[in-house]
Amino acid sequence: MAGTLRIRGFVNAHSHTFQRALRGRAAGGDFWAWRDGMLAEAERQTPELVRSAYEHGYREMLAAGYTAVGEFHYIGVPEARAAADAAAAVGVDLVLLHVAYARGGLSRFRQDSVRAYLDQVEKLRGAGLRVGLAPHSVRACPADWLEEVGRYAAAEELPLHVHADEQPREIEECLAEHACRPIELLARTGCLTERTTVVHATHAEGTELDLLASHGSTICACPTTEADLGDGFLPAERIRTRAIPLCIGSDSNVRIDPFEELRELEGIARRQTGRRGAFSTEELHAFGGEVGARSLGLEAWPDIEIDLGHRSLRDVDAENVPAALIAGCGADVVVA
Ligand SMILES: [Zn+2]
Repeated sequence: MAGTLRIRGFVNAHSHTFQRALRGRAAGGDFWAWRDGMLAEAERQTPELVRSAYEHGYREMLAAGYTAVGEFHYIGVPEARAAADAAAAVGVDLVLLHVAYARGGLSRFRQDSVRAYLDQVEKLRGAGLRVGLAPHSVRACPADWLEEVGRYAAAEELPLHVHADEQPREIEECLAEHACRPIELLARTGCLTERTTVVHATHAEGTELDLLASHGSTICACPTTEADLGDGFLPAERIRTRAIPLCIGSDSNVRIDPFEELRELEGIARRQTGRRGAFSTEELHAFGGEVGARSLGLEAWPDIEIDLGHRSLRDVDAENVPAALIAGCGADVVVA
């Protein structure tokens, strides 16, 4: 067998591309210690650094088969434009998920008011960027911000992405402040719709997963990052039984390989259930492509070519190639 096979490109629905610089760095004992190193890296970003480092990051993504990316961006408006320039130079479709950040983090993340945040969004849209709304988390945004951002996303029919339930501490703080869990707060503030993507949902309870299912919202799983940060296991089987749409993201970019993200998703489900083939091959490819595109509001995104002569596909029958890509291939199977 030789030649190439054309398939739909992968969609990276959640990336913080500046975090690629942290790959391989020793970074403390847990998520919160890692976060200190991440904040130091965020603080040194400039438009020039973003323009050049993101171009390298997007090239690595494109080479791995990601032809579209949702950049979950919280390091400044000039840097947002630089990210868009970098994506255009590489030829990756970019959706800039501009982040609302009211409290915590670094001062450069924050806006003075939710109105100031929406003004930034409108400026970026006016400059021709494809933009989505991104209240960072229930940690960084109080309820009145969530309500306003949810209202704007609904009125403008824009995607809304938000981190939730990545770490137990965030849930404890939400319970203390609001007497409910993060995804319950998102529902209460109008942030859960069919255009909403909740990133992680690692520690989501059954009631929260029920809310995602009943609102038609999507979950973006980032298994290689969630493993690297010690976040926990996605409740893959409970998501599957509720038919909640799943997509993937490279998140911290410790690893950039859509095949590995999908293999991890299926592997987590197998470990949880003791069953093989928890998700079908078609479902897994859809998680990597269509579902991510829908999550970002994209109707079209470029295809990729698979190298059928690659050593990892040797002796694989043509009909088994789609499954073998996920079971046994790495991103180097994509034709550059
Ligand atoms: Zn993230």
